[in-house]
Amino acid sequence: MAGGFDVVVIGGGITGLMTAWNLADGGARVALVEAGDLGAEASGANAGSLHLQIQYPEFALYGEDWARAYGPCLGFLKASLDLWQALSERVGEDLDVKLGGGIIVAQNDEQMRLIARKARIEAAHGVETTLLDGGQLRALAPYLTNTAVGGGFCALEGKANPLRATPAVALAAQRAGVTIMRKTTVTGISAETGGFQIATSNGLLEAQRVVNAAGARAGEIAAMLGVAIEIDGFPLQVTVTEPVAPLIPHLVYSAAGKLSLKQAANGGCIIGGGWPAALRANGTLFIDPASLTGNMGVAAGVVPKLGQMRAIRSWTAWVNGTPDWRPILGEVPNRPGFFLALFPWVGFSAAPMTAKVIAELVLGRRPSTDLKGVSVLAD
Ligand SMILES: Cc1cc2nc3c(=O)[nH]c(=O)nc-3n(C[C@H](O)[C@H](O)[C@H](O)COP(=O)(O)OP(=O)(O)OC[C@H]3O[C@@H](n4cnc5c(N)ncnc54)[C@H](O)[C@@H]3O)c2cc1C
Repeated sequence: MAGGFDVVVIGGGITGLMTAWNLADGGARVALVEAGDLGAEASGANAGSLHLQIQYPEFALYGEDWARAYGPCLGFLKASLDLWQALSERVGEDLDVKLGGGIIVAQNDEQMRLIARKARIEAAHGVETTLLDGGQLRALAPYLTNTAVGGGFCALEGKANPLRATPAVALAAQRAGVTIMRKTTVTGISAETGGFQIATSNGLLEAQRVVNAAGARAGEIAAMLGVAIEIDGFPLQVTVTEPVAPLIPHLVYSAAGKLSLKQAANGGCIIGGGWPAALRANGTLFIDPASLTGNMGVAAGVVPKLGQMRAIRSWTAWVNGTPDWRPILGEVPNRPGFFLALFPWVGFSAAPMTAKVIAELVLGRRPSTDLKGVSVLAD
């Protein structure tokens, strides 16, 4: 297809922007199309956790077979966290990346046994989680409740600042030559000889290849080419406290309820963990008071000092989720030239590696990691 772009990337979240940046660095002519503003959906609204360990609530819910099937994704996430550590330097801006370790806190022996079973599966995939008794836990993290019986410590986890990361990556993509089209919605895609035509609210684009990085709405984009994928949007909420003196250097989880907790560089404690937001009839989201109190209760149950802090802001966003938590990465088998860059639930953590591998595949290069067992497209 003459003219047009080598690649059109759909979605201006961190995944699409980073993929477009890598593609432009690799010599491709790239356009990125974003329906709204860059990073204005999940990529700018997430809690900033850099996750690695298997999430405890899902392990408790779905069990060991599920965790073993998800296990190969741990290597992918680990590689992504390595890339996160180099990202501030690569974009030329401090993204508040700190890998201080993640702690899952147990309040009883049964929870501790489950953490130990989870740690065995993590170890089989190259991720070490150290089991701690109550004394060891408090020595490592004196801010935790003294009712905790123990926990698991995964040294490689941490946090980054989503409010800085996505804009910094967007600037880097622009500097690398990516044509960025904001406020431009993709409304249809057709496969033509040698490429694709992409209909948008601002006119028609042509490209040899298309990358779908539309997050929670990726299913709609895939359906435009007759491709059915199991991805959907789920409404979540997160809360931040007033800034306080340094207290929590770790990413903290609880085995007693859904929680992700960290202290941002400015001192605010960010409290989330997958609590659902509420949905209005017109499709917009609002804070669910039951989720808010539930989330705060779990948080204060683990870090009692949180009970004395004021929450200053809560917000909502759609997360991209798949039922089995596994990502959908790669070229669609019966749609040559159409690529999916979709890492669910923890897509902020996975973004650097997702973008790296998808760019390699689009450029026809050997991917730096084997997607077998990771992406559902490689099964
Ligand atoms: C509240 C919350 C907390 C979270 N916390 C964490 C966390 O702590 N750690 C972690 O690793 N992950 C977390 N996540 C998940 C993570 O934020 C997402 O998985 C990740 O940001 C997905 O990035 P993305 O670029 O793929 O998608 P998005 O950021 O959703 O970007 C997709 C973009 O595609 C655009 N788009 C959609 N349809 C079209 C169209 N037709 N035309 C043009 N553009 C279109 C959208 O406007 C959007 O900007 C959280 C998510 C939420 C919602």
